[in-house]
Amino acid sequence: MTLQERIADPSAMLTRVDAVATNDLKPLTREIDAGLYPEDIMRAFGTAGAYGSHVAPEIGAEDMDMGQTIQAIARAGEHCISTAFCMWCQNALAWYVGSSDNAALKATLLPKVARGEALGGTGLSNPMKTFFGIEKMRLKGTRVDGGYRVKGALPWVSNVGEDGYFGIVFSVEDGAQVKHIMAVARGDQTGVKTALDHDFMSMAGTATRTVQFRDALIEDTFVLSDPIDGYLQKIRPGFVLMQTGMALGMIRSSIALMEQVGGPLGHVNKYLEKQPEDFQALLDELEDEIMELAKTPYDTSISYFRRVVTARLRGGEASTEAAHFAMLHCGARGFVSQGEAQRRLRESYFIAVVTPATKQLRKMLADLPAA
Ligand SMILES: Cc1cc2nc3c(=O)[nH]c(=O)nc-3n(C[C@H](O)[C@H](O)[C@H](O)COP(=O)(O)OP(=O)(O)OC[C@H]3O[C@@H](n4cnc5c(N)ncnc54)[C@H](O)[C@@H]3O)c2cc1C
Repeated sequence: MTLQERIADPSAMLTRVDAVATNDLKPLTREIDAGLYPEDIMRAFGTAGAYGSHVAPEIGAEDMDMGQTIQAIARAGEHCISTAFCMWCQNALAWYVGSSDNAALKATLLPKVARGEALGGTGLSNPMKTFFGIEKMRLKGTRVDGGYRVKGALPWVSNVGEDGYFGIVFSVEDGAQVKHIMAVARGDQTGVKTALDHDFMSMAGTATRTVQFRDALIEDTFVLSDPIDGYLQKIRPGFVLMQTGMALGMIRSSIALMEQVGGPLGHVNKYLEKQPEDFQALLDELEDEIMELAKTPYDTSISYFRRVVTARLRGGEASTEAAHFAMLHCGARGFVSQGEAQRRLRESYFIAVVTPATKQLRKMLADLPAA
């Protein structure tokens, strides 16, 4: 299905992203599944404008449009969730800087991230789980002249080369209080050590590193918010909402897989409980809600955040279900080692497991005050 068949009037940015996804990404998906990090493609998406829509005013471009950012992630996700996730990582980094009051980083780092010249990501799984009472902060800082000395380790940070940038949060004891600080770290700075030593069931091409901080100096010039209070409420809906791009891409591609085998296998596939039309109806409804939510990503109300969390949860659950039915529709042709359906099924579980995972999203809905 073409971009125009999905989106009536695609923007120039989405048209460029579509060309990179179709011409460059699609032929490489098996190699990415086997571990290739698609650096050139990540940079090409940057040149196409895929990392700038949600921070547009900050980089001197037109109005902010997070919906376009989500659609760009979705377009890559129709072929490859590893790449779509790396795009989310890059977009999250831009979002953190663009949403901060750090004028210097906005003027220097942000345009490079938005254009894909500087690649990077986010180490916020641990703090996002900490702030919702699931685990303890892994990074701890101490105030020193000119910044903070930070110790600790993050087990997973994706889309980060040896010299990549990534968002972090660390805790600092401040008298009897503990405060949390958000900053940007670099993989190649003194005191930071990174290693690629993961072996996942999918998502091998995401350049996912373990990162150790051994008294690394996070200079004041790299601090995004000290303390994080207020800023966290500002960035968290966008952080969660942009992940729905992966879900839209996965559901669209699962529908396409079901339709592809409709000719040869439709006479028996029609007995399966779920058909492509069922997922298309679900997708249309979910996409409408996501695009509506994407109009106001800086809404800090609880009622808005509950809607974002609900859409993200539905997207994750629909992704695994759609990929499951794509596998059943494709049968043995999807089950072979090079089969598209089995790769998509493995990738779909990532959408349900990455922070905030399905279980965390359900806990958040249980814990957040009713709107
Ligand atoms: C491919 C991939 C890429 C990721 N990229 C990023 C990223 O860019 N940034 C980021 O912040 N997070 C990243 N994560 C982490 C991810 O977002 C989740 O936090 C993680 O999968 C665990 O979430 P969970 O809610 O399932 O926690 P649970 O599975 O409930 O685990 C809770 C804690 O248990 C420990 N634990 C359990 N099993 C293991 C294990 N086998 N090895 C190590 N520790 C374990 C960890 O401390 C973990 O945080 C990535 C994970 C994967 C698989």
